[in-house]
Amino acid sequence: MSNRINLKSLSRDKIFNFIEARGLPRYRADQLLNWIYERYASSLEEITEFSKDLRTRLGEIAYIGNLAVVDRQRSSDGTEKFLFGLEDGQTIESVLIPDKDRLTLCISSQVGCAMGCSFCLTGKSGLLRNLRAWEILDQVLSVNRLIKPKKITNIVLMGMGEPMANFEEVVDALKRIVLFIGISKRKITLSTAGLAPKIIELPKAAPDINLAISLNATTDAVRDRLMPINRKYPIRILIDALRRYPLKPMRKITIEYVLIAGVNDSVEDARRLVRLLKGIRCKVNLIPLNPHEGSALQRPSDVSVFAFQKVLTDNKMTALIRESKGQDILAACGQLRGSYEGKQ
Ligand code: SF4
Repeated sequence: MSNRINLKSLSRDKIFNFIEARGLPRYRADQLLNWIYERYASSLEEITEFSKDLRTRLGEIAYIGNLAVVDRQRSSDGTEKFLFGLEDGQTIESVLIPDKDRLTLCISSQVGCAMGCSFCLTGKSGLLRNLRAWEILDQVLSVNRLIKPKKITNIVLMGMGEPMANFEEVVDALKRIVLFIGISKRKITLSTAGLAPKIIELPKAAPDINLAISLNATTDAVRDRLMPINRKYPIRILIDALRRYPLKPMRKITIEYVLIAGVNDSVEDARRLVRLLKGIRCKVNLIPLNPHEGSALQRPSDVSVFAFQKVLTDNKMTALIRESKGQDILAACGQLRGSYEGKQ
């Protein structure tokens, strides 16, 4: 398989070049794109619009790559988690979150992650490798194929990995998700731990994508501890990048704030957060920590969660309390992969 071309790794133009280079008419490229991205063909054999001869001819030099479904778990709250196997034997996960008429897929951008956030299980394994654009895109295609005739409506890049640390492949994947799968940019959100220079670069490379920041602290001392990336891009630099992020009317930056008992959940933290975010069009998601085995970090009491939220709403900020979805299937980032590897 290794010497053949994976057709899913090709951009639209390259698919056309590939077809033309074989002396075939251009409409064959349209058919190929239609079968791969709208009819979810997982092999050339399925493309019945091509003659057997043509399928065999193309099959000698190309194939349609697919993520393998290694595990699929459904939570009591409707969240579904998929563990996908990659061609090199690595695994990644995606989480499907149904909410009213929305079907949001949380996708991974790397195998593991180098950011080392102290509250995250994925960070513990370190970075194994970047995902290729087609592997990012194929999480969406694979889940769409599995949930047919339903379709994913929204995408969040909030799974395993730091998307900004795999910038080119992520941007390429986002463009293809919009072009091939037809999910509009305003329904795609990229979440980052705070790679400030890439926040400034993103609007030029992929305009109008929604931005979410995993902030989680209001002082550098605490953020340095929770998210080591802060030592490189401290809060002041990160907030400055947010102020420069161009927003269309009605759009807001999402600020993710994981509340951890005794670490970042005081009323003083809430007041500092109000001051930090002053003048930034944003909404704040407050996420009480979903503690995992082996970590000393704890979930705060409901009283402190509500008190934190009140400071924000009293200051006319939008602040919602969000529970991690799918806790019974370990749907917080990296956890299914962790438990799968534990079983091996
Ligand atoms: S929270 Fe995100 S950025 Fe931080 S270690 Fe986990 S996957 Fe990486």
